[in-house]
Amino acid sequence: PARTRFAPSPTGHLHIGGLRTALFSYLLAKRTGGEFLVRIEDTDQKRLVPGAEQRLLEDLRWAGLQWDEGPQVGGPYGPYKQSERNDIYQEHARGLLASGAAYRCFCTPQPAGQGTASYVTSGCYQHCASAPPEEADERAEGHKKPFTVRLKRPEDAKKRVYPDLIYGKITPLKRSATALASADVDSGSDAADTILIKSDGTPTYHFANVVDDHLMKITHVIRGTEWMASTPLHYDLYHAFGWTPPVFAHVGLLVDETKAKLSKRNLDIALDVDSMRNELGVLPETLVNFLALLGWSNPTDNDVMDMQQLVQKFDLKFTKGNAMVRLGKLWYLQKHHVARRCEEARRTMTMEPIKDTANDVAVEVEKQCPSIRDRFPTHDELREYCGNLLLADSKAYQNAHQYVQRHLYLFSLDAVQPPATQAFYDEDNVVSGTAIANLVETMLRDFDFRQPYRNSFAIGTNEHARSSATEVAVFENHSARIHAA
Ligand code: GLU
Repeated sequence: PARTRFAPSPTGHLHIGGLRTALFSYLLAKRTGGEFLVRIEDTDQKRLVPGAEQRLLEDLRWAGLQWDEGPQVGGPYGPYKQSERNDIYQEHARGLLASGAAYRCFCTPQPAGQGTASYVTSGCYQHCASAPPEEADERAEGHKKPFTVRLKRPEDAKKRVYPDLIYGKITPLKRSATALASADVDSGSDAADTILIKSDGTPTYHFANVVDDHLMKITHVIRGTEWMASTPLHYDLYHAFGWTPPVFAHVGLLVDETKAKLSKRNLDIALDVDSMRNELGVLPETLVNFLALLGWSNPTDNDVMDMQQLVQKFDLKFTKGNAMVRLGKLWYLQKHHVARRCEEARRTMTMEPIKDTANDVAVEVEKQCPSIRDRFPTHDELREYCGNLLLADSKAYQNAHQYVQRHLYLFSLDAVQPPATQAFYDEDNVVSGTAIANLVETMLRDFDFRQPYRNSFAIGTNEHARSSATEVAVFENHSARIHAA
């Protein structure tokens, strides 16, 4: 059984790229009967965004990635938030100092040469590594000199190998001169020996990440290739502690159809989970299905899968390189998942209680829209159809969420512009959006489906409907009605 984790830094919205790596980790854990953990990596307090952690956890839950250990649920290896684990990092840093794998460094950042005062070098320029440990103890404890803790560069560094499940092995980057002149003093990634504990006593990202993965017994680390450059350092840390490293799998980044890194600008749609959910009306199962297919080689022909099916099929066969995001595919999957939900809803509903209302609506429709006969030759057929619509509505009345989802299917966005006065029902076309979501929310609030429809509900036709040979439900003067009410 694998133990995997998602280790977000709460610095903003959960991006779909983050949800994707979380999903791979989740699927691996569930596939193997293991555990999926969430750990909040908030060592860099400067970058924290208030509320981000809560939102992130909510987004994960919405997507169905319930964690077995982590914030809110606890677990045997907590706390699961790095800012609450400082004692643990200190203790482990002391361990490395005692074994000689790390040393205290008393150098403070220096300007890196004339005319470049804006750059500082964070390197060690006083040979702290070779100072006798007693002397370092004396300076730190006796004289209260501030210090960082650095990892000694391993002597056999050149001989080491850094395996990766997807790429075979990782070649360490040459540490460059620009990194040396980095203004990011405590980043721990410059040409000098890596900093593990910063001068303010807090751990660097790398140190905390490795210590936690080990203590939380993580077996597989699945993360984006942007972390690949740090991985040799992580291996070195495992080595310094004498620990067995987990399996690392670095998955490619998400790119758009021009192979540019995914961004809101070039796709014209927001790529955080919250917007996909609330602005586009994407269903959780759609998003999860979509993301699973980005970089993982689905071994079967059928791409439409819910979480349970994904768990059954999941394996560690990832494709190398970046994964291209095609929104057409997203809407294709959405259509199928909506159809599944509607199927499900239909199975559980019966029309009897709303027969009279359905009849009223059908009469109204016939009066206002004679051409409805093209589609429903008899009154009974139309009544049954109206009944189905109402049924879905009234049934879902207690369940706002399902209600909204249902309508996102029933009405397609492309013809609906705010203020939303029209809604289309078009079975072959599932597009949804803010306007529809708003419309539906408003209806949910203001519209009692058991009340007579006369004043509020009108049915008509338009070009779009005629051309696609489907009937159109037009909520004429909808906003006016809402305001009047
Ligand atoms: N905190 C890192 C992030 O926000 C996690 C990297 C990792 O998975 O090791 O992406």
